[in-house]
Amino acid sequence: MAQEYRNYIGGEWRDARAGERFEREDPATGAITGSYPRSRGEDARDAVCAAVEAQKAWRRMPAPRRGEILFRAAEILVREKERFARDLTEEMGKVLKEARGDIQEAIDMTYYMAGEGRRAFGQTTPSELPDKFAMSVRAPVGVVGCITPWNFPMAIPSWKIMPAIVTGNTVVFKPSQYAPKSAYNLVRALEEAGLPGGVVNLVFGEGAEAGAGIIEHPLVSLISFTGSNAVGKRIAVQCAELGKSVSLEMGGKNAIIVLDDADVELALEGVIWSAFGTTGQRCTAASRVIVQGGVYDEFASKLVERTKKLRLGSGLDEGTDVGPVVNRDQLAKIASYMPVGASDGATLAAGGAVAHGDGLDRGYFFEPTVFVDAKPAMRIAQEEIFGPVTALIRVGSLEEAIEVNNGVPYGLSSSIYTRDVNRAFKAIEGIHTGLVYVNAGTIGAEVHLPFGGTRGTGNGHREAGTAALDTFTEWKTVYVDYSGRLQKAQIDA
Ligand code: NAD
Repeated sequence: MAQEYRNYIGGEWRDARAGERFEREDPATGAITGSYPRSRGEDARDAVCAAVEAQKAWRRMPAPRRGEILFRAAEILVREKERFARDLTEEMGKVLKEARGDIQEAIDMTYYMAGEGRRAFGQTTPSELPDKFAMSVRAPVGVVGCITPWNFPMAIPSWKIMPAIVTGNTVVFKPSQYAPKSAYNLVRALEEAGLPGGVVNLVFGEGAEAGAGIIEHPLVSLISFTGSNAVGKRIAVQCAELGKSVSLEMGGKNAIIVLDDADVELALEGVIWSAFGTTGQRCTAASRVIVQGGVYDEFASKLVERTKKLRLGSGLDEGTDVGPVVNRDQLAKIASYMPVGASDGATLAAGGAVAHGDGLDRGYFFEPTVFVDAKPAMRIAQEEIFGPVTALIRVGSLEEAIEVNNGVPYGLSSSIYTRDVNRAFKAIEGIHTGLVYVNAGTIGAEVHLPFGGTRGTGNGHREAGTAALDTFTEWKTVYVDYSGRLQKAQIDA
């Protein structure tokens, strides 16, 4: 019997009203990892009501006290890191060392946002009139709906929930149905840390059911969404119609540029890690490698050789390099791009098929794949595949590399390998993505800096860092006139 988990609403662990459930399986083995409530609109409404009620006291609790609860939650995450990492690997497949990184990112974010309880700085500024004081302070937006994907199931929810609650909001959290146990673990840690009931409410289930119920509820002021472009754009339209704010973090088609003067070995390591880490299922995955002509052939042959040596298997096996993809649909989607790449004229140089044998048939495994001689306009070089697939594109110059890098509908992460500081800075200036790395892969964001993308990746918001506070707070501007007489701004000045 699979272990049964419940929704967390108003500080109580409850089944969905309709009593329905769904099960999640380990994508490496097919074993059932847990059973969860299949929530619907009515459960989402219960959760929103609990969040509205809890907000009255929570927003009045001094922010440093709120921060202390986060600090205690971070300590619990530290204590449980190994167990939570194993749970995470079992439900979404990434290899254990990366799962530990996912938990660590949540730990870092929770400590960082705990500190914001004593910062969350506003501004004070001179007034244009005498005997008048002017300042702006951050105020919570109210109830926040957090809707998250499965690929960073502990880190991404923490990027949303921690800044939301430390600034006095309450939350209704709908995690992906493909990684529910990590959501449970995170919320349990907050409960154990002493978070009052109703401040974070957890509703498991499908997007179109539980998720839609949160979005549609008039008392939810802000939706913070991370996931695919198809879903995110639809949510943006809904939120526009309902007059609520929405922060979107969506897909990527990230590139690593390797110039002729690059340290090729370093660049190879960066590409392997960025293209095949998390089985290529990162929003920041390097699914394109833009290589300058002088080093292209050497780089391509070394990359193909290394890619063929990567070991597929369960992420719980410490010898595994690349775990399974998350589910059957994702496996089929990745496979569907193989004939697309070939018919567009790219050459398949490594991988290219669903993997079999050695126990892999029980799970969803795809061979790490390299296309060479891809052209920038090909679909494999334009669309987010979200699997262990990368495409090499040959260019003649730095300028062409930057143009190719920018020539996709997304704008999340880019990287350049070069030993020339002038070329590095030209790239930093010319690249139009939210994240730029020099002599490092496209992944490796740290929680105290802004994270997010330009163009099709997002809608201008940033997560993490103090930028996150801008999403989860509204500015309240305060004027205090202590002159004892009517003073008129712009008129008496
Ligand atoms: P997804 O869009 O399928 O699902 C994301 C979440 O939205 C899930 O919780 C899902 O249940 C919910 N959902 C689906 N339909 C909904 C609806 N109609 N109403 C409300 N909620 C709904 O994405 P996914 O497959 O879980 O995640 C992969 C995608 O996420 C990739 O495109 C990846 O690039 C993106 N991603 C982006 C970032 C970033 O920071 N830019 C980070 C991680 C993942």
